[in-house]
Amino acid sequence: MYFCRLLSFTMKKIFLLLFILTFQNIAFSQNNVIEQVRTELSKRKEAKILIPKSEIKDINLLSKTISLDYPKGEFWLGYVNEKQYKNFLTLNLKHSLFTESYPKALTMATNLSQMSSWDRYPTYLVYDSMMRRFAASYPNICKLDTIGFSERDSLILALKISSDPYSDTDKPKFFYTSTMHGDEITGYVLMLRLADWLLSNYGIDQRATNIINSTQVYINPLANPDGTYAYGNNSVTFATRYNANAVDLNRNFPSIPNGLHADGENWQKETLAFMAYADSNEFSISANLHGGAEVLNYPFDTYTSNSQSHADANWFISVCQQFIDSISPLAPSTFFRDVTHSGYTNGGDWYVVDGSRQDYQTYFKHSREITFEVSSDKSLSTTQLNNYWNYLKGGLISYIETCQKGLQGYVRDSLTNEPVRAKIFINSHDAFNSEVYSKASTGYYYRPIQSGIYSITYSADRYYPKTIYNVNIASNSMNNQDVILAKIPDNLGETEDNKFLINIYPNPAKDLLRVSLPENSNIFSYSIFNMLGIEITKGKINDINTDISIKNLNKGVYLILLGGKTIKFIKE
Ligand SMILES: [Zn+2]
Repeated sequence: MYFCRLLSFTMKKIFLLLFILTFQNIAFSQNNVIEQVRTELSKRKEAKILIPKSEIKDINLLSKTISLDYPKGEFWLGYVNEKQYKNFLTLNLKHSLFTESYPKALTMATNLSQMSSWDRYPTYLVYDSMMRRFAASYPNICKLDTIGFSERDSLILALKISSDPYSDTDKPKFFYTSTMHGDEITGYVLMLRLADWLLSNYGIDQRATNIINSTQVYINPLANPDGTYAYGNNSVTFATRYNANAVDLNRNFPSIPNGLHADGENWQKETLAFMAYADSNEFSISANLHGGAEVLNYPFDTYTSNSQSHADANWFISVCQQFIDSISPLAPSTFFRDVTHSGYTNGGDWYVVDGSRQDYQTYFKHSREITFEVSSDKSLSTTQLNNYWNYLKGGLISYIETCQKGLQGYVRDSLTNEPVRAKIFINSHDAFNSEVYSKASTGYYYRPIQSGIYSITYSADRYYPKTIYNVNIASNSMNNQDVILAKIPDNLGETEDNKFLINIYPNPAKDLLRVSLPENSNIFSYSIFNMLGIEITKGKINDINTDISIKNLNKGVYLILLGGKTIKFIKE
């Protein structure tokens, strides 16, 4: 082990030296460099460039211009396609082309039995056979699913592993996906091996059995087959980061602050497939495996923790810590220490990235996704694959087990017992889309959260919101909270209450809402509530025709309470 550490330390020195030499040798003339990058682009549609840190004045501008990879020593490594490179040149930054002087020969498994010792990368066909064989060998706990197709029409596959794989039962949904950057292939094999471990240990190992019984686990080992097999389905040696259209899939998702296409590219087939899969599955917890560093990176990528942290930042940190604590003690002491000492970081604190899948899942899909950077070497030598599995196995399993803790329950209609799709909002806690929703089909919801005592408001369209106070969520267990919601009677959803001759108008209203009451009315005050049932404002009614200023309300649907009657109105 000491030898290993020494070796890894020496290797890092050599790599650093190589970086420096590469830069110095090539930096003589930027014109030469531009020629070299363009030649590389004409061959591979993507090129890696090194930019000295001293050159970079605005890292976020650079991150918007090219696909920044990672800081390496005195440099940042970035990827460019033709369009990105053209834009990059306008920034006038010194740079050099980064080429590996001796691309590793990675041993390939060309048939299924060669994968049994887990020290090879599969050809695309072997991968495809493995996935089919998992489903065929374990039909009661495994189903093969197609997420979609790549730009070159390769299948993007997932395994669903669960005690009832053919039905959408009410259990937390968990999703592992790897290698959306096609050249980051360590996670690809780790995911295949994890699937194999889960399936072959059902009924044998207690943890595997619990996971399969309590959780719907989805595993997609290869998210970008066109990048991984860029030069044919039989080798991963010349894999590309980008997809077949030279697009970085991890910048191609809708951005939180900058619109649907912040990267200036159309949504790729891979991106559309993943968005549709997320829509139909509503995952609660997920991870996205990458390589090039050893660190866990939790939301948001788009913001530093100072400018916008996630409401569940403490949950993310404790889950990351749990992962780090589960890494094998046999791992070298430098393992998962190359970015931060803790082994994890807020995404934007490392460097800001717009349009990542992690933020898409977390912000737009109300899920929780962490990016796992699983090996500093993107294409781990095949001789190291067994070691990395042994180091990381505990962490990969423990992360799925987070689905066994938190809060779950059903939201149903008080009269019909029908399921209700409701918003589950933790008061004084949820913010910036961290709330979750119950399933329309069954009313089931699952909310991962740190232990504590919370007040939770359940709300749904056309229902009276209900707040449950002092919900005690114990750590390390699953807590249950079922809720029934009462429907707002239809006649109260209208603009007037005929029986009591109360009128409000106009509806929708912009600045003023007129309340018109019958002659003999004994209503002298009003309250306005939002749809969560929280009182926003109140005031006096001085006349049977009173104008209430609603200028300061945000746009949306409100309820006005007048003498025990609730009337719904819309603020424009
Ligand atoms: Zn990556």
